[in-house]
Amino acid sequence: MQVLEVAPCVLAATGLIGANVGLILTGEHAVLVDAPFVPGEARAWSREVERLGRARPCYIVNTDYHLDHTLGTCYLPRGLVIAHEATWKYLRNLSVESAIQKALEIAEGRAEDLAAQLTDLSIVTPQLTPGKSMSLWSGGEQIDIFHLPGHTAATLGVYLPAHGVLFCGDTIVNGCHPYAGDADSLQWLESLDLIRSLDVKTIVPGHGPVGGPELIRPMQEYLAELRQRIEECFLAGHTRRETVERVRPLDAFPVPSGEEDRLRRLLRASVERIYDEIKRSATRDRQRT
Ligand SMILES: [Zn+2]
Repeated sequence: MQVLEVAPCVLAATGLIGANVGLILTGEHAVLVDAPFVPGEARAWSREVERLGRARPCYIVNTDYHLDHTLGTCYLPRGLVIAHEATWKYLRNLSVESAIQKALEIAEGRAEDLAAQLTDLSIVTPQLTPGKSMSLWSGGEQIDIFHLPGHTAATLGVYLPAHGVLFCGDTIVNGCHPYAGDADSLQWLESLDLIRSLDVKTIVPGHGPVGGPELIRPMQEYLAELRQRIEECFLAGHTRRETVERVRPLDAFPVPSGEEDRLRRLLRASVERIYDEIKRSATRDRQRT
């Protein structure tokens, strides 16, 4: 885990097995963005938050419902949990047993003795759902929490306008393939346009190193290209299965050795999802004419 101070009292931790996490320390509160996926890492982060936050009351924002952002919430200091309503719905219906099963699938051997670490897991259901957007005013800081649909219907951004720092969840990932298995690719591209319209100086992506506004374009290009390749297959009459075979993993981002199978599965889910999206909109268009 690398912890970086991206602005005064604004920290980002990267290099975790799951998603990146953040901590905003205002004069009054500790605002946490996402939870480390692996309990050992979540506990280490929790100790760091307690050390730096010195018993400040906490808010915890889950930027989407995927377990690599939400699973570790139970190991963080207690706080008011903020997430999109779709995250609330997902977590409310998630049993501990199926969370453990999913977590083991996600980890695929990257976290040692994960099953043993998860014996005291509990699912933390969010208590506050912000709708399209809300601002949190704390210790003189303005913290905007707003909907960035696309990667999932539940994706949120956390933005500090005074510092130009954006925690954008998986709307942007840096140096790795994005996962579109629960996505709406058009909404995702619109959310990237929205980020572009902000005066962002620092972007803390959902995965990969912290960067600046230069992280936006590769995501837009990746998604637009993926979408275009899939659409071409669809228009040429290929089935979903054929499309998966034809749209080979893009070489936009490196594939870590040993992770080829995992990545192939993720990309398959992404291609299938976007194929269905394109097919749905083509059917709608046909019904209209
Ligand atoms: Zn996600």
